[in-house]
Amino acid sequence: FSDIVEEARLSARALLDYGDSFFNPTVRLGVTGLSRAGKTVFITALVHGLTRGGRFPVFEPYATGRIARARLEPQPDDAVPRFAYENHVRTLIEERRWPNSTVDISELRLVIDYQRQNGADRTLTIDIVDYPGEWLLDLPLLNRSFEQWSAESLALSREGPRAKLAAPWHEHLKTLDAEGRENEQATLAAAKLFTDYLRACRDERFAMSLLPPGRFLMPGNLAGSPALTFAPLDVAIDGTAPDGSLWAMMRRRYEAYKDVVVRPFFRDHFARLDRQIVLVDALAAFNAGPEALHDLEAALAGILDCFRIGRSTILSSLFRPRIDRILFAATKADHLHHSSHDRLEAVLRRAVAKAADRAEYAGAAIDVVALAAVRATREATVARGREKLPSILGTPAPGETANGDTFDGETEVATFPGDLPVDPEELFNGGFRGLSSTPHDNADFRFLRFRPPLLERNAEEEPALPHIRLDRALQFLIGDRLQ
Ligand code: GDP
Repeated sequence: FSDIVEEARLSARALLDYGDSFFNPTVRLGVTGLSRAGKTVFITALVHGLTRGGRFPVFEPYATGRIARARLEPQPDDAVPRFAYENHVRTLIEERRWPNSTVDISELRLVIDYQRQNGADRTLTIDIVDYPGEWLLDLPLLNRSFEQWSAESLALSREGPRAKLAAPWHEHLKTLDAEGRENEQATLAAAKLFTDYLRACRDERFAMSLLPPGRFLMPGNLAGSPALTFAPLDVAIDGTAPDGSLWAMMRRRYEAYKDVVVRPFFRDHFARLDRQIVLVDALAAFNAGPEALHDLEAALAGILDCFRIGRSTILSSLFRPRIDRILFAATKADHLHHSSHDRLEAVLRRAVAKAADRAEYAGAAIDVVALAAVRATREATVARGREKLPSILGTPAPGETANGDTFDGETEVATFPGDLPVDPEELFNGGFRGLSSTPHDNADFRFLRFRPPLLERNAEEEPALPHIRLDRALQFLIGDRLQ
């Protein structure tokens, strides 16, 4: 019954949106990706570029001058926080610092006045919805029971490098009697150890991606509530929890998590998106090794599955097809020399292709791009002895260290990022040893964080933020709606 109510709600929503968008053409653009993938920087750069004269030669309606202007307007959803665009721009441009990352959902409305190819004046509204990718990975929980989820989470936590990280939680799990009386303190301890394990997996060195429940890592406004206080138990998949048992309590909370967190997110936000960009910090995964890359692949498959779940709701699909374009973007491409950008795309394409096959996904156009929403580096050739090395120049953030030096945030340095292999397969089969940092191995520039670029200013023009292939992303995401 609850499914029918859910369907009815979804359909009512779809109808309302449809009505709105009939009079006022609107694209709801979802921007997601796991924590630190680059969502905040991406949205800030996109809006700044469109409203303040960015350089987008590959974004056709913009490059041909058909876009008269783009401006911000109040967003339609009163209950969703506004994306703090103005603050982020100030931080990025004036302070040359990276803005604070996404920890919750937020929204921003951008209105574009343009001329159609046939000359008619039109307006397109773009509602940008920024949300943590961790939340998306929760959608598959909707069709899993507590027992199934427990079994899957446990099996995963016993594999490869995860097993070590999960050891303290596994120890505690052994002390629990699932069929014994419910016990708040034991549950709190289990939830904490389980969350610690999830967080350890997200550590830079491991960079693992497949970690539901997402709110354990990104709680939003629900931190500490019972719906977030549970953990998997070692119980039979087809077993029944005795009344009043620890098992019954965990299971109740797991179901509450789905009711309070996952379903509303699906209904109010996810199911209403038209276009989606999924940002991926692929470089972090490469550097963590093949385990992390396989994990990323599985997470991408999980994400594609979500889009399939999104489409298969019967009634809502009658009204209009929802997400019809999905772009996977490898971010921070400015950490590589341009000769590796196509290779970065090839790796992502390989990871997504497999996922798309597995999900037998055929409902939307999918594309892949390697981009830097804000390009923090320049390229140069540095002579070392007789060799000429393709390198990148950037200003390491204050406090970054390499080679025993601590950077002051003012000095520019040249680094040699190393190349990605021509054959993406090497990354997946472990043949690739990580991005070499310098040819003489005693420095590690791999994770060096650069400050945002210093912009040249002249009196007439607004400074434009440099980027890599952001215009290609725009062309794919909204180019067709501005014909
Ligand atoms: P979010 O958690 O997905 O919102 O991630 P952010 O947008 O806050 O990005 C996380 C961090 O990645 C930033 O603080 C930057 O250090 C880095 N970053 C993001 N985008 C770029 C980019 O285009 N170039 C470079 N060099 N660094 C980036």
